[in-house]
Amino acid sequence: MAELTLDSVTKRFDDVVAVDGVSVDIEDGEFLVLVGPSGCGKSTTLRMIAGLESISEGDIRLGTTSLSGKRPKERDIAMVFQSYALYPHMSVRQNMSFGLEESTDLSKDAIRGQVDEAAAMLDIDELLERKPGELSGGQQQRVALGRAIVREPEVFLMDEPLSNLDAKLRAQMRTELQRIQEDLDTTTVYVTHDQTEAMTMGDRIAILDGGQLQQVGTPLEVYHKPANRFVAGFIGEPSMNFFEMEVQGDRIVGDDFAYPLSDETREAVGDASHVTLGIRPEDIEVVSEATDSHDFETVVDVVEPMGNENNVYLSFSPEEEHSFVATVGGMRSVEPGQPVVARFSEDAIHIFDSE
Ligand code: ADP
Repeated sequence: MAELTLDSVTKRFDDVVAVDGVSVDIEDGEFLVLVGPSGCGKSTTLRMIAGLESISEGDIRLGTTSLSGKRPKERDIAMVFQSYALYPHMSVRQNMSFGLEESTDLSKDAIRGQVDEAAAMLDIDELLERKPGELSGGQQQRVALGRAIVREPEVFLMDEPLSNLDAKLRAQMRTELQRIQEDLDTTTVYVTHDQTEAMTMGDRIAILDGGQLQQVGTPLEVYHKPANRFVAGFIGEPSMNFFEMEVQGDRIVGDDFAYPLSDETREAVGDASHVTLGIRPEDIEVVSEATDSHDFETVVDVVEPMGNENNVYLSFSPEEEHSFVATVGGMRSVEPGQPVVARFSEDAIHIFDSE
């Protein structure tokens, strides 16, 4: 069993609290994506799991065994870095076998077999005698992965492993990495700042901000039930729209529109006097005529075509810059300057504490 537990893990660099009391249980075989903006503590967390960084407070356990005091080599963990960190003077085969020769007493034949197997899995069997300098970025990336796979570790740690690849290759490797992880069933912690990568790859996503864990959940959970405004704004593209509203009796009132409180939103509002209303771009419908008292009149500011849908940026008056965005499906065309009506249903509303 390789359940990985982070128990109130904190890391301080002098005055900077890089990681602040993070607790998460990563299940055996799970693919957990650690995501958040630059500087939120992702790499530091990963480096503490790897043993490359000491822990200021808390504990990290693999199964029931604490990793504290164990050197990186004594941990049954393999890390894949963004930079690949391949040895330029060694062949691909040597790069892949090096760690095994160092850390195990496997026979040369056994090591050869494991390298061949990993190379076949990654489709790099033709490249084994080449040097890293003779490989493309994508191929080097595969070698870096191969080097982790041959060790058959209990845990893979991956620090933005796809960020040096172009968009097409990145998308391809995303799927491939998932397939490999599923085949091997190795507990994996994957760090990225890219929410799309997180949403498409993770069994669960852990969202960090300012060193603190904001939410852990499946992609659907964090998307549909974001724990707070930070998560709501971070997950989803284009980002969720936010409006500051004042609670007035049975409705909430903003600068440009008011909205009645349903039973559900009333519960979320509680006894707050001000709240932030969140609405996802795809939950806003753009129509030509108002038919309901909740509909509000807007003006198209900018239209961003996205292929089979458009991101339509809307303003409440022609003078102001856009204040929110709606994603409109199909080939329906709207033009900048055109008056349109926006509407959204009560069950699509998210309520957050006012900022
Ligand atoms: P991320 O990987 O999310 O970009 P990091 O874990 O690299 O974030 O960094 C988290 C915070 O800790 C940042 O404020 C960063 O400047 C700080 N930090 C990271 N490593 C060190 C270090 N060795 N010394 C001092 N501060 C550091």
